[in-house]
Amino acid sequence: MTQSTKVLVVGSGPAGLTAAIYTARAQLNPVVIEGEPSSTSDQPGGQLMLTTEVENFPGFPEGITGPELMTNMRAQAARFGAQITTEKVTKLDLTARPFRAWVGGNDGEPDYEATSVILATGAKSIMLDVAGEERLLGHGVSTCATCDGFFFRDLPIVVVGGGDSALEEATFLTRFASSVTIIHRRDSLRASKIMQERALANEKITFLWNTQVTEILGDSKVERIGLTNTLTGEASSMDVAGVFVAIGHRPTTEIFANELDLHPNGYLAVHQGSLTSIEGVFACGDVQDHHYRQAITAAGSGCMAAIDTERWLESQGS
Ligand code: NAP
Repeated sequence: MTQSTKVLVVGSGPAGLTAAIYTARAQLNPVVIEGEPSSTSDQPGGQLMLTTEVENFPGFPEGITGPELMTNMRAQAARFGAQITTEKVTKLDLTARPFRAWVGGNDGEPDYEATSVILATGAKSIMLDVAGEERLLGHGVSTCATCDGFFFRDLPIVVVGGGDSALEEATFLTRFASSVTIIHRRDSLRASKIMQERALANEKITFLWNTQVTEILGDSKVERIGLTNTLTGEASSMDVAGVFVAIGHRPTTEIFANELDLHPNGYLAVHQGSLTSIEGVFACGDVQDHHYRQAITAAGSGCMAAIDTERWLESQGS
């Protein structure tokens, strides 16, 4: 049976849940489709479920773990009456109102009809796209130190990337691994100063500069990686038990990429706050933010999308 709602929120990271808190408190009874756990890099709660300490979300002077922060936001949205369902939207029709959504691969009658939609589908890890990576994902290749770090107790591992994610993962992984090598394709880091200082001061972390991983080897689990020096082209290899890929993220736009305007870099285009190219469809969080990509900015944009939605619904007499 098709359920009707005034507000359908797709996604349950800080953006989606903040939008849910605000629209629920505005008595709009939002339905939040939070997604389903399909892999370590794609699950309800978004990227913060894969993060360790969050030290820069205001209001938590001692920091808070990503999963705890998301559990709190979810409980807060539920407390005000948001209906949160553990399903994944697999098809969206935004060509006419009410908008229609299908979940779990259903191709029959739509599961939801919505007067307005708030898209908060976030972003996912970019992979290296080298031989062995996909085959050994979950067998030594990981995108989530929090989820998998424990499996690498006293083992040598590498983290690929030079941004905040790579340095954060590497620092966390020193709790478990015998050694952590950060492999970066250039000779200077993109990460923020404080993360750099922390990683550079950590005795368990070493850096391999100007180096790309070219292949990941091992029968049933990671045993070795192939490397190339980006300056000299010289090839080498290294024995490792784990490869943590932390080279950035890609916005999750598959279910609406053909219907809404995107930026050339693939992120959802918004204007005047959270408005997309279709009236009644709003967006917030990492799916539309290629610049800041922080938990707090995602939450802030979720608030903006909720207020824009509320005002638009009011203007429609809904
Ligand atoms: P990022 O800042 O985009 O950094 C990605 C890194 O991966 C770069 O160093 C890049 O190298 C490298 N890279 C990209 N493609 C590669 C490839 N194919 N092979 C090898 N290396 C590749 O991504 P991020 O670290 O995930 O951070 C994203 C955003 O989240 C940033 O705004 C960051 O500040 C924020 N963040 C904040 C925190 C925190 O504050 N606690 C934690 C995590 C993330 P180049 O440098 O050569 O381009």
